[in-house]
Amino acid sequence: MTDLNELYEAQILDHNKSPRNRRRLEDADRRADGYNPLCGDKITVFIDLEDDLVKEVTFEGSGCAISTASASMMTQSLKGKTLDEAKALFAKFHSLITGEPCEIQNGPELGKLEVFSGVCQYPARVKCATLAWHTVNAALEGDVDDIVSTE
Ligand code: ZN
Repeated sequence: MTDLNELYEAQILDHNKSPRNRRRLEDADRRADGYNPLCGDKITVFIDLEDDLVKEVTFEGSGCAISTASASMMTQSLKGKTLDEAKALFAKFHSLITGEPCEIQNGPELGKLEVFSGVCQYPARVKCATLAWHTVNAALEGDVDDIVSTE
């Protein structure tokens, strides 16, 4: 469609090909499992906290390019954030992807995460892009008894 769209797509493909922080974190302070039955995406997130700081965040899983790239970029965005900042970022990201009007955005607010702004054009992929975030949010809330489902 637009050059911006192609640029964003290239970044998503790059993160899918070489996901950042995709590894198990032994003895993680928090972990949660997530599943998106619509697409079959599965993810486990691991978080190390230092007081209220996200010291380390990693993931394992298998899924489509969008879910993998989203998890990869999420770990980069959350590392070093406070719990409050992490939750605020989740809310912003969620409204970017599910928000009205659906439009490709290019601004400083979400940084690199704006590559996902085009996902709102594809309602079936919204849950792929938000799976990692819902899962990390559950881990941060300590609500990890059940597998987080995007359904
Ligand atoms: Zn998916």
